[in-house]
Amino acid sequence: MHMIIDKTRPVMVTGASGYIANWIVKLLLEQGCTVHGTVRDPNNEKSVAPLKKIAAAAPQGSLKLFKADLLDKAAFDAPMQGCEVVIHTASPFVVRGFKDAKEALIRPAVEGTRNVLEAVNRTQSVKRVVLTSSVAAVFGDNADLKKNPRGIFNEEDWNFSSSETHQPYSYSKFLAEKEAWKIHDAQQRWQLVTINPSMVGGPALTRNSASTSIDTLRGLGNGRLWPGVPFMRLAWVDVRDVAQAHVEAAFRPDAEGRHILSNGEPSMLEVANILRRHFGTAYKFPVFELPKFLVKWFGRFMDSSATPKFIEQNAGHDLKFDNTRSRQRLGIQYRPLEQTFVDHFQQLLDDGLIRKK
Ligand code: NAP
Repeated sequence: MHMIIDKTRPVMVTGASGYIANWIVKLLLEQGCTVHGTVRDPNNEKSVAPLKKIAAAAPQGSLKLFKADLLDKAAFDAPMQGCEVVIHTASPFVVRGFKDAKEALIRPAVEGTRNVLEAVNRTQSVKRVVLTSSVAAVFGDNADLKKNPRGIFNEEDWNFSSSETHQPYSYSKFLAEKEAWKIHDAQQRWQLVTINPSMVGGPALTRNSASTSIDTLRGLGNGRLWPGVPFMRLAWVDVRDVAQAHVEAAFRPDAEGRHILSNGEPSMLEVANILRRHFGTAYKFPVFELPKFLVKWFGRFMDSSATPKFIEQNAGHDLKFDNTRSRQRLGIQYRPLEQTFVDHFQQLLDDGLIRKK
């Protein structure tokens, strides 16, 4: 359905302090929008200082911050007042370091989505919701591709293999997107557009994000994954392209449905080789691929999320995503991944998150 969005009305962005959301806020402000950003703690300088800096550099727009925790049912009504578009990005992206997946991931993802969308149902001005979902809602393990009749994942696919105990982050994203469609389908006023990015890379505007994205590339350069990595493909996309997709999804009159955002599936060693070419051999980038049996039995000592089942279902398997819809319907022109990795690693060095050599 064709829907004209009034860009002079405020746009709400949940989790504005996050890695991806920072870039979305920046693009919106640069277009002259008024942004209502929600953060968990507006007094936490570490999380709001980067946002203030982004706003100061884009005086054509204006940014107003509101306090909202995902588990607080009433927190989203005030920032939503007068908005036609709500961009819901907030959701924990952690894959280790927690005891209870339900409390750490599933509850905030699913209840948070419900709380935001119930506030949308109460707020008559809202015409469209853009939800930051993930390819984690599309697939669970790389091995699932073998069961895919097309041999490539697209927007018709849903994750069927994750659970509370196996890939709980992916499960949280699957449940949250399902919940969003259920609430959307029960009404007629507002549209739902989902952005389903693969692993996001590229420079961060904040040093404070706990996003696994940042941790993953850091692990390739700080020696944690040295000398060897499993043969494992990960799908990647640039954070600037992901932010652009959210903005297109917010304002294009005919935007609707799901959109995979992904720009290729290099193996971990291929990413390391790109980094070594640009930054030299002084950094401890992995240099070879480890046999699967070795990673299967010792992987957990390097990374608690690398269980034998995870390795079995992900190492040594193909992975392929179809990004046609994002290019055709949102007009995304993907940056080369090489630029994504190089810019990201350079920023980790500049921020002191990896020691310069
Ligand atoms: P991030 O930097 O960790 O951002 C997550 C955001 O969620 C932060 O703003 C965080 O707020 C907020 N949040 C977490 N728990 C919350 C709670 N209980 N109440 C309120 N806010 C809460 O990670 P990101 O990579 O930008 O992720 C943003 C979104 O993109 C998530 O929905 C994630 O699932 C999705 N995504 C990410 C990737 C990726 O590779 N990065 C790929 C696909 C999808 P605080 O600042 O207060 O912690």
